[in-house]
Amino acid sequence: MFLLTLIAVEYRIIFDRHVQASGHGKGVVDSQNGVDKTFLDAIFNCLVGHPEEDVDGVMNVTLTKLEDGERVSLAEVALKLLSSPSRREGVLSYNRKDDRVIRERRYFLREIGEADLEDMDLVAAGWKSQKRSGIRCHYNFIADWELGVGRIAARRVPCSCIGCIAKSQLPIKERYSGPCIDCDLWPIFRLNDNEGLNDFKIIEFQAKKDHDEEATRKAKGDTLRGRGYVEAEGVVDGGYGVETVSDGDKDYDYYPLIWDGTPYQIEEDGLYEVEGVDEPIQLAKGEFVCEAYWMYKIDGAPQWYTPSEYRGFIRMQQVLAPNLEMTPVSDGCQLPRSMSPSQIRELIEKGAMNISDYHHALLIEESLRRAQMDFEEDEFEEQYGDEDDFPEACSAEDEEDVQYGSEEE
Ligand SMILES: [Zn+2]
Repeated sequence: MFLLTLIAVEYRIIFDRHVQASGHGKGVVDSQNGVDKTFLDAIFNCLVGHPEEDVDGVMNVTLTKLEDGERVSLAEVALKLLSSPSRREGVLSYNRKDDRVIRERRYFLREIGEADLEDMDLVAAGWKSQKRSGIRCHYNFIADWELGVGRIAARRVPCSCIGCIAKSQLPIKERYSGPCIDCDLWPIFRLNDNEGLNDFKIIEFQAKKDHDEEATRKAKGDTLRGRGYVEAEGVVDGGYGVETVSDGDKDYDYYPLIWDGTPYQIEEDGLYEVEGVDEPIQLAKGEFVCEAYWMYKIDGAPQWYTPSEYRGFIRMQQVLAPNLEMTPVSDGCQLPRSMSPSQIRELIEKGAMNISDYHHALLIEESLRRAQMDFEEDEFEEQYGDEDDFPEACSAEDEEDVQYGSEEE
């Protein structure tokens, strides 16, 4: 569920997960797992009974033999059995090839430590300390990008009545708080006028004592890089973007910019010089960057900016908004009256542009959410040192190897 919150933030989407069990044991996947289990049970039971004998003359498997001092992996044995050519395509005489729902079965082996984030051990906090109020008594979990990373809105029963849909459209602060009085189910769940049994609660994921923080950092790093990819798609050459503010810069809430070109991916890991920044910055292969001119804020005129001549790399994962609307001076959008006409004329010539209160509020909200994703830059480098795992997550050759194990055995 924690990972759902990361995906929600990465793509700015809402995951509304309804837990149910109507298809339990009846789905295609379940039926296949059942078939596999029965098949493996038959072979393993047979082996335990007569360990020295070959199994039915089909294949000779070893469960306990030590190979080079290491115990044979049971999962590897299962993979080999299940991937045998006769099983892979099913029994042809019983199924006409074209009519079958499943034409080919592919099995994969995942070694311990091979998957990312295995060590992430989090606990969901925020449940009421009452009987039947824990996670098992909840069947609706919402990962909303506006809630940010690590937060889930949970309720007992999912509902998509008109009242609940209307509530889901409210601003984030009201969306998951207060009683669900407009819900069709309110008469059933009502405790009093201010509280019902099916109200949302916000659940927060917290680290367990021996939690591996690296895993969470890795997950957040992946999300940031994904976010960069998404932001890159929104860039318009010559349009306005906004970058997160650097640590310790108290003068700016965020940095507005004017894109100069379109985003591209870094080809090699390395240190890159950036105009206007003293130290070169470490960029990872595959990361999206775009060149842009920064804008200066105008003293005495909040949310007004003029273009500068400073141009440099912008890391797309640092971008708060790739395509911001900015407005020039007009009848409805004026520089402060305290400015003299000559000052105003000069600023108009310099290309002064305004960010509306509405957009300003959105940018502040987004930068708060982004702060949750912050972690030390050097840790980022360690994680991505020589990986190129985004966006080409897995190549076709790798897949081939894993699927059927090695052929010569
Ligand atoms: Zn409802």
